[in-house]
Amino acid sequence: MKQVLLALCSSVLLVSCATPSREQSLVSRAVDAMGGAERLAGIKTIAFKGTAKYWEPEQSDVPGGEARFANESNFSGIIDGATRASRIDWVRNFAYPAPRTFNFSEVTTPEAGYVIGVDSNGRNAQNLKSSPPAHAMSGLRLATAQRELRRGGSGALMLAMQRNPERVQPASDIGSQPAVSFDGFIVAFDPATGLPSRVRSLDYDNIWGDVNYDVVYSDWRDVGGVKVPMSRKYELNGKTVTEVAFTDLQFNAPIDTSRLQIPAEVRAGAPKPAVRNVPYQWVIRRQFIGVYMDSDNASYDTQASQGLRLQEVAPGVHQVQGGTHNSLVVEMSDHLIVMDAPVTDAQSMWLVGATRAQFPGKPIRWVVLTHHHMDHAGGVRGLLAEGGTLVVGQGAGAHFRRVLEAPMTRNPDLPARSFHMNPILEVPESHVMSDSAGRQVIVYVMDNPHAKGMLMGWVPHARLGYVTDIWTPGPPLPAKPNPGLASVVNTVKRAGLQPERFAGGHGSTADYQSLVKLVGQ
Ligand SMILES: [Zn+2]
Repeated sequence: MKQVLLALCSSVLLVSCATPSREQSLVSRAVDAMGGAERLAGIKTIAFKGTAKYWEPEQSDVPGGEARFANESNFSGIIDGATRASRIDWVRNFAYPAPRTFNFSEVTTPEAGYVIGVDSNGRNAQNLKSSPPAHAMSGLRLATAQRELRRGGSGALMLAMQRNPERVQPASDIGSQPAVSFDGFIVAFDPATGLPSRVRSLDYDNIWGDVNYDVVYSDWRDVGGVKVPMSRKYELNGKTVTEVAFTDLQFNAPIDTSRLQIPAEVRAGAPKPAVRNVPYQWVIRRQFIGVYMDSDNASYDTQASQGLRLQEVAPGVHQVQGGTHNSLVVEMSDHLIVMDAPVTDAQSMWLVGATRAQFPGKPIRWVVLTHHHMDHAGGVRGLLAEGGTLVVGQGAGAHFRRVLEAPMTRNPDLPARSFHMNPILEVPESHVMSDSAGRQVIVYVMDNPHAKGMLMGWVPHARLGYVTDIWTPGPPLPAKPNPGLASVVNTVKRAGLQPERFAGGHGSTADYQSLVKLVGQ
């Protein structure tokens, strides 16, 4: 009998005799639990509405402290299965960095993405030039939007997994839940119901290195015979960063496909989805606080800037300009001091290369961070790669020791290495860095409204100060003083300094007296 079975299996019945793998069984059970392959395949359009809340952990007040509440949004959207096009209309009410509301729409197709309206304080050149405002998504944003649509589309994802069993691979359990890997996702299943419970990506975060980014599905409801998770929680290394609740969802309702069109002239110049080194966490989370610069270079607007450059702002003092975020480089007799390590290690590796070319034999020995926020500290590893000391304000030392100890094997810009040899100096009030010729750079802890332990830089020979995020030197000052601007003047007074100018982590440089006049009003 056994012989007969074997003979049968080795011929025409081979396929049906093969035992499905553990992975395929998990996928099949999930498809069945969601309503079956036929029903899932019958979904041609989706129309939905909902609300979402966002928190940003790396814009906290205290280093390593409670995540900052970022915004609360209402959205409504449509998806057309035939063209794989989607549109989401957003009303996004921000709490941070300033209260404001952005109304905008995102249209994505497999080939291009389109943003209608204003969705950021950091608008790119195309958005600024268009009337009404609109722009093609960068390839980085389009790739990110496509990945996140896929993660959110529980039914389509399960169906794709069932139809492509060769791409479904074993994965370690997540907690007590069995999991499989598929196209860059790790999908875990609820053993009780068989439903998918969690979809994970192994991402890179500019502060925390290797991170898990998960959606956790819940509140499963029946929509026309298909089970849909109406609530989703997004977790970054287990901490909630987004909560989404669908308030309405319909399958196969008529949709207006004209709303999914991208104008031909925009489509013609629109970037294709990026295929490698997508800084997903940067793209996703800069949008949480409404400051994302939609560009195929994370550091600058490729449509408006020639790229980063070292601009001499005083003898021996250079500011990195051309990007959304600056550093300050002070040349000492046999080394360099750099203030701020913004954006990514790609920007830092550019700076390391530029300083090696311009100041041969002078390594970066001190890396000063004005504060811990991800956009001004995300390139810290790249600048410390020459073995420098990290200088941070009071209360940030332990945080950055943890940051530097975090695994960083997925860093696209820097090979994995240990930073345990890099000392961290925590500045209680002020700290002086000097060279053999007597040149000094001094940092002062600021009493300020932006971030605990914030540092101000001071370059005595140039009578130049350096601040980030509480004053942007260069653009016109606001009509009225604010607590951030006042904190700059207070720190200067307390330290007994006589600045001529300030340079900034944003903007360029500006005359100090104009600030004093404003704050003195
Ligand atoms: Zn900040």
